[in-house]
Amino acid sequence: MFFERIVREDASPSRARPMARIAVIGAGPSGLATVIALMRRFHRPFEAWMIDAGDAPGAFGDGPAGRAFTTEPARDLSVLPDRPDDFARWLKDGFLADGAVTALRGPQDLHVPRALFRDYAMARFGEALALRKDVRLRTLCAAAQRIDIEGEGVRIGFGDGESALFDHAFIATGFGFAQREVASWEEASAAAVRLVRQERPSPLTLVGNGPRLAAILLDLRARGFFGAIHVAAASGGLPQPHGRAQEGVRFGEPPAGRSLRDAFRYIRQECSIAEARDGGQWQTVVDAASARLSVVWRNLPQAERNQYRRHLLRLHRHFAIRIAGDIHRRLMAEFETGRTRFVPPCAPPSGENTIDCRETPSANALAGMLGCDIATLSIDDCGRLLVHDAPLRGLSVVGAIASSLRPGPFVFAETVRQVYRSVLSAPLGGLARVSGG
Ligand SMILES: Cc1cc2nc3c(=O)[nH]c(=O)nc-3n(C[C@H](O)[C@H](O)[C@H](O)COP(=O)(O)OP(=O)(O)OC[C@H]3O[C@@H](n4cnc5c(N)ncnc54)[C@H](O)[C@@H]3O)c2cc1C
Repeated sequence: MFFERIVREDASPSRARPMARIAVIGAGPSGLATVIALMRRFHRPFEAWMIDAGDAPGAFGDGPAGRAFTTEPARDLSVLPDRPDDFARWLKDGFLADGAVTALRGPQDLHVPRALFRDYAMARFGEALALRKDVRLRTLCAAAQRIDIEGEGVRIGFGDGESALFDHAFIATGFGFAQREVASWEEASAAAVRLVRQERPSPLTLVGNGPRLAAILLDLRARGFFGAIHVAAASGGLPQPHGRAQEGVRFGEPPAGRSLRDAFRYIRQECSIAEARDGGQWQTVVDAASARLSVVWRNLPQAERNQYRRHLLRLHRHFAIRIAGDIHRRLMAEFETGRTRFVPPCAPPSGENTIDCRETPSANALAGMLGCDIATLSIDDCGRLLVHDAPLRGLSVVGAIASSLRPGPFVFAETVRQVYRSVLSAPLGGLARVSGG
């Protein structure tokens, strides 16, 4: 029997309004935001299971990972879409009031340790739960291995042969179990300890090119690891910095065409016009183009979507997910020392001194759980999972994993908006039939 913890057990289902039974698979930032959204927007009694293969909700704020800074400034990290400045206000009220800490800039511009962001999200989680006496929450440490549509519900199968039936499941499995962040931090730290003990140590190789790679590399140096570090980055580049805060770029109407080529021709054209007209930085233009691609996406046939997923998605993520300017400068300085250098990518990463720091959303794992071909899958604006363009009842896909099948969400504000759209559009009318192994 798997480990199970009940956050609240006192909620009792009323006879008139039966409890809906909901699974949220993945307890990273997206899973947490989904449960908060359910408590704020789903006005029926419900029982939610927060299922994670390894991490408790909020674990991304633990240990050295929690000391690393958020890639986005506070103004973009609200868990409440109706109050975009909520995190900045929480910081101001809790930490910057009374002159206890003097912020040189406004709190909205700060990149803070992720532990602080976790504390904020958990505070909002607790407040939302306190208002819902009709909600029961369970956290469950188990890996979801199969997802089957069964009658009116969704059956989730776990590794040990047990299963449970839900009215609806939100899949927030992000970078998957194989690329869990905690493993990257632990392995990097263990390899560094091993190498400093050796007389002629080989280099430590970090594979990846995103925020996780940046944070682990800088943390190793901050903790005094002076050995050679090789960075095997698929795109051959470092994560990119944010630009200056700028007004959005104005784009013209998207074409009615149904090809990726047409979509890109339109976006390229609009980008050049926008750059000439607004003097846009590439970051602002990429953001505007990402938003436009999401609109164009609706008209694209599945074959074109698959082309994007296979050939462009990785590059798109690389330029859309950006790090703080200060962290980027420290990374550049690190490469200038010569102790750290790029090497060709190695896939799959192997060897005890090669650490996998990649962040690839795991759509393949999702297709595996569903037992279907990834090329048949896509996601609509509300996070509904589509197979051959038809919604698969009872399943929503939110957060980073969604961005493995369509353009975005790439940043937290988009994730939160997508989570709320998913919660509001989930057809949660039916009565759950409960069974377990
Ligand atoms: C230094 C650093 C700073 C960052 N700053 C930001 C930021 O400012 N804004 C931002 O949006 N993001 C930021 N990120 C990324 C962020 O931490 C998240 O990883 C990312 O947003 C994706 O979140 P997620 O919840 O979708 O997925 P994940 O974080 O990957 O979480 C998915 C969870 O699902 C679980 N899981 C996977 N497969 C299964 C399965 N089959 N069964 C059960 N459980 C499963 C995993 O164990 C994991 O806990 C940062 C990352 C780093 C390293």
